[in-house]
Amino acid sequence: MPKAFEIPGLTVPPGQRGTIWLEVAKAPAGGVIGIPVVVLNGAREGPVLLVDAATHGDEYEGTLALLALLRETEPSSLRGTLVGVPVLNGLSYEAEVRGNPLERYHYDLNRTFPGEPGGSITQRIAARYFTDIVKHASAIVSLHGGGNVFYLDGFVVAHSTKGDDLDLIRAMGWKRFTDAPDMALNPYQGTLWDKAAELGIATIVAEFGGASQRSPRDIARAKTEFLRGLRNVMIHLNMIIGSPDKPKTLLKIKKQNVRAGNGGVIDFEPNIDIEARVTKGQAMMKVYDPLGYLVETITAPMNGRVMALPGSPLAYPGRILTSVYDVIEEIPTDAS
Ligand SMILES: [Zn+2]
Repeated sequence: MPKAFEIPGLTVPPGQRGTIWLEVAKAPAGGVIGIPVVVLNGAREGPVLLVDAATHGDEYEGTLALLALLRETEPSSLRGTLVGVPVLNGLSYEAEVRGNPLERYHYDLNRTFPGEPGGSITQRIAARYFTDIVKHASAIVSLHGGGNVFYLDGFVVAHSTKGDDLDLIRAMGWKRFTDAPDMALNPYQGTLWDKAAELGIATIVAEFGGASQRSPRDIARAKTEFLRGLRNVMIHLNMIIGSPDKPKTLLKIKKQNVRAGNGGVIDFEPNIDIEARVTKGQAMMKVYDPLGYLVETITAPMNGRVMALPGSPLAYPGRILTSVYDVIEEIPTDAS
């Protein structure tokens, strides 16, 4: 028998749709700081797929795709439960930046999991989300992108590229995947994918879009890619009926980000674009100060292809300017 889906403050019977603002705290002017949750509880029993977006408030493409998925999915014909959190970090979303600008201690929500209910506001949001929502999930797809600072041409990152995580990566059917967010840095701490993996929940992060591609056509491309992947995942989990739209093979990649050392205006070298092939040490961009002096030359960190470009014409010290990837392995999309 299909069961009602319950989270604190909300009970959704089988075949129904329910929504709630999961309150985290009262805002200074009396509003609510909360997490918007949409639950589509299927008429038939099945897995709980959790999809979130805007963990980072300037990554909107995932929000658009998730809202479309929630509109098009009918609980009456759904197997299992789709839980959507279209805007996880509302404070950063309203400010149109990565983290809550008023947060003094834990700016990045995706370095704050599993959160702390008695901690800073970002820690409280993480804790509320992790305890009341994440723990119910059997699989998680978290939607991200390049935000205000750069454009990312799509890849999936997970805690591991084995077992259930690999199944979900294959289900998504995006061209590129990795388990190494940035080879140049130590593994990030406090990410949702690591902490959910500790609970045995398969979790992938899908990254697409960003600031340098904000025309309606570009936004539609990112939204379409997210939607294609999410529908593929739902078909894989037998939540909806359909044929997946996937390539025959997927590329396991390693990637390396390059950050600006100093500030200035960016002038691209010829032929540098998304998917351009580069060799280690090759000049990709030159950064100039307002007097015309060359501040620095941004070079390719390894042989590979360009996967990300700046979303702003300005280099700011420490900001990621580009990401280069190389293929480690090509695998069949469907497990044999
Ligand atoms: Zn993000």
